[in-house]
Amino acid sequence: MRADVERAGEVEVRRSARRRRTVTAYREHGRTIVLIPAAFTAAEERRWVDQMVAKLQTREERRKRTLGSDDHLMARAHELSTAHLDGRAVPSSVRWVENQNRRWGSCTPADRTIRLSGRLRGMPPFVVDYVLVHELAHLLEPSHNAHFWSLVHAYPQAERALGYLEGVEYGSGHAGLADGPDDELEPGTVD
Ligand SMILES: [Zn+2]
Repeated sequence: MRADVERAGEVEVRRSARRRRTVTAYREHGRTIVLIPAAFTAAEERRWVDQMVAKLQTREERRKRTLGSDDHLMARAHELSTAHLDGRAVPSSVRWVENQNRRWGSCTPADRTIRLSGRLRGMPPFVVDYVLVHELAHLLEPSHNAHFWSLVHAYPQAERALGYLEGVEYGSGHAGLADGPDDELEPGTVD
């Protein structure tokens, strides 16, 4: 019963005399609208509503996964390089890694690979973008010198993102560290 009550609040079924067989569902202001033919029985309505709601959820979850994918990360890196580094930073690969707990990102200039810590997932986009720009800048300047920081600060939200990450690190109780195993350190890898 409880599930029915919840569903009643979020799903609105609209019967249409013009519809004969087609069923449509979409989200509107946080609610799910399902359009069904006027002739549907209560059982048909229930079956179709369940099916359409499940379908919408699957589609939304797939979209969420795509946003968090390595392909999306690579495309975003390319956009940021073009926007802030004159397109000069060209990585060979950019991917999420789950074993990187001490650093937000890392870059190996020798093979132009970039890795981002999975801990960044769910953080605001300007923070993820900052870490990408940081690692992209290492493709042009491996050390944390003045030249490097001038490259990073071409990204207008660098300072804000640094403040955000400092806050997260402070909140985790370790200065710059999070719980978990050490990273695999590869020679020539910078953070
Ligand atoms: Zn760095």
